[in-house]
Amino acid sequence: MRFAILSRSDNKSEVIKSRVKQYLTDFSLEYDEEKPELVISVGGDGTFLEAFHTYKHRLKDTAFIGVHTGHLGFYADWVPEEVEKLIIEIAKKPFEVVEYPLLDIKIHPVDSEQYQQFVALNEVSVKSIDSTVAMDVHIKGAHFERFRGDGLCVSTPSGSTAYNKALGGAILHPSLNALQITEMASINNRVYRTIGSPLILPKHHVCELLPLYHDRSMLITVDHNTEEYANIDRIECRVSDEKIRFARFRAFPFWKRVHDSFISDERT
Ligand code: NAD
Repeated sequence: MRFAILSRSDNKSEVIKSRVKQYLTDFSLEYDEEKPELVISVGGDGTFLEAFHTYKHRLKDTAFIGVHTGHLGFYADWVPEEVEKLIIEIAKKPFEVVEYPLLDIKIHPVDSEQYQQFVALNEVSVKSIDSTVAMDVHIKGAHFERFRGDGLCVSTPSGSTAYNKALGGAILHPSLNALQITEMASINNRVYRTIGSPLILPKHHVCELLPLYHDRSMLITVDHNTEEYANIDRIECRVSDEKIRFARFRAFPFWKRVHDSFISDERT
């Protein structure tokens, strides 16, 4: 089997990276950064997001696993002390795979048919640099609301425990092929009105965000990458046909992961 390791580059992560690389090579696995079947991220959730985006072009052929070298991560859920055990598990058998939904994002510019396409593991968020965000929200081709406020976040089920959760969104089990829209400080008064609740859309319901003022710059963040855009006609979000594949070497159910990340990792 071919594997690659992506580290956060701090001392601790680099030491673990070289240990894992050496052990797995000793077990006759091949280190291949071009076409890995297994990608091991060593660092935190940010490193895991980086690993996902590095290999998003070959999701069908790549499975991911995360070791954390800081505090417990949501994706990076193996502790450094378990690394030997993990190596033996990787070396000895074909692994099971668990698949989670992703989000497809298309940014369509004004006056052009050429759009930019992205895939998110956690979410896309749309904010403004210096003024209120004003966007029409369309769902399944129909106008739903005119949003004014700090911005909107559209998240995946596994991203629902990230930014979405901080915005008051629900935590969604990743067996649900869905996306969730959450508001950031919407303006609600007698003039402006938004739904005010997070919305959960099924796979075949496309959500489009249409900025009202094309000349105003917007900040669009896909997972951990932020870019500034102007002249956007619409941002199209839908549940992706592709999924992320997690290599599973032990049972770690989603709700236990949520419990251990947010409530306590002690059994009480
Ligand atoms: P980072 O690595 O510092 O991540 C920020 C925090 O989000 C970390 O504590 C990380 O463990 C946690 N996190 C990331 N994905 C998660 C998930 N799916 N479930 C639970 N926690 C998760 O910063 P970064 O590298 O810029 O990471 C970008 C991510 O940070 C974004 O995808 C976004 O979801 C998250 N974020 C969260 C907030 C917030 O909670 N207020 C604000 C901005 C961004």
